[in-house]
Amino acid sequence: MKIFKVLILILCCISGVHTQDSIVIANITAIPLHINKVYKNVDVEIIEGFVSRISDHKGFEEIPDTYLTIDGTGKFLIPSFGDAHGHLPDSNRLELYGLMQLAHGVTSVRSMRGKEWHIKHRNRYSPTPTYYLGSPPVSRRQSYSAEKIDSLGKIYGEAGFDFVKVLSVADSSTFYSWVKSCLDHNLFLAGHCPRNIGPFRAAETMMFASIEHLSGVLQVSSLDELYRVIEMTKDRSVFHCPTMDWYFTGQVIEDTLANKPGLQYIATEKLNTWEEKVDEYYKESTSESRETSRAKEKANFDVRLGYLKLIYENGGLTVVSPDASGIYGVPGFDYQRELQHFSTAGIPPRDILTAASLNYAKMTERKQFPSWGTIKVGSRANLLILTANPLENINAVDYIETIIISGEVLSRTSILEKMDRLNQSLKGG
Ligand SMILES: [Zn+2]
Repeated sequence: MKIFKVLILILCCISGVHTQDSIVIANITAIPLHINKVYKNVDVEIIEGFVSRISDHKGFEEIPDTYLTIDGTGKFLIPSFGDAHGHLPDSNRLELYGLMQLAHGVTSVRSMRGKEWHIKHRNRYSPTPTYYLGSPPVSRRQSYSAEKIDSLGKIYGEAGFDFVKVLSVADSSTFYSWVKSCLDHNLFLAGHCPRNIGPFRAAETMMFASIEHLSGVLQVSSLDELYRVIEMTKDRSVFHCPTMDWYFTGQVIEDTLANKPGLQYIATEKLNTWEEKVDEYYKESTSESRETSRAKEKANFDVRLGYLKLIYENGGLTVVSPDASGIYGVPGFDYQRELQHFSTAGIPPRDILTAASLNYAKMTERKQFPSWGTIKVGSRANLLILTANPLENINAVDYIETIIISGEVLSRTSILEKMDRLNQSLKGG
């Protein structure tokens, strides 16, 4: 039995993937997030993908042989992350995209620009993050009848999309037709807060799951109104997804951007397009004008930091995404910087982690007690093992050692190796 177990462990270590029905992460410090507590030196048991027990560690010899044991001594266990504003790549790059996210602790991605093929491919690869899929976007250019909107909602719902992505709407009757269609076809809305609707009416519907890019709070004209928006969105469980990193890029020198970590995993054609854009920009600007532009971008970014801080201080709900779709955006890799922006806004580490996991799980599951985003008995084992304490410094999220998704144990090293292999084959190496 012992020899058999050792053999299995060796085989698992070679592949970097452990799948076993019973797992115990032993002697670890667990940060559960749904309560303001830290469990020190505990054993967290996982059975068939769910946390089944959390108990004080009594020694490794107490753990039954039938368990896969992970030594958590000196390490930290937190719920894994959700990327609330992802843009999926072309289908041939989806597997790599998923691994880039997993390697950075992101086990669920909400896709913000839907294409039909997403439905078919959402479970194609293993391991993969869970994809939470938005429909093709609604924009003000579409002036559809209520019947047409009802039939589109029916198509999206039956196809398997989870929500309808809003960029803008033609008018309020179109907006309310979408609200009704979503209600009838088990969908909800998320996206930019349409200017002709405003944050109050959007939140009031109870169908708007999240407002992207701070587009709700940026529409107010007074501080008093701002507080009321925060209050109303909080009451109606509308999450703010500020996508800070997308706005951060403008203040960074282009050379620095071109050396960002993870760019080697981006398609060569895309990298070339970015380079050309930068070249063009350099041709038509001077070093002085670039400096002025960077200063302006920084000032705008600082204003956004201020809004994020106000949302946080007034109890508003936030979720996390770098929106790595802009120039030199790198999915997964940019996620950690987004967490740092939350920290720069003055949000303490525990609340940043809550936004990254528990809030995301609540938003996508639309429940007060979602199935993951916490460490408690009965919750889905979507977890991360870190070698540094994230409550001391949010940058500890750079030290992810192990990613557990629905009880499947993945070493970060094995994911990185798989990414390299896949990247080589995509680049024709
Ligand atoms: Zn976006």
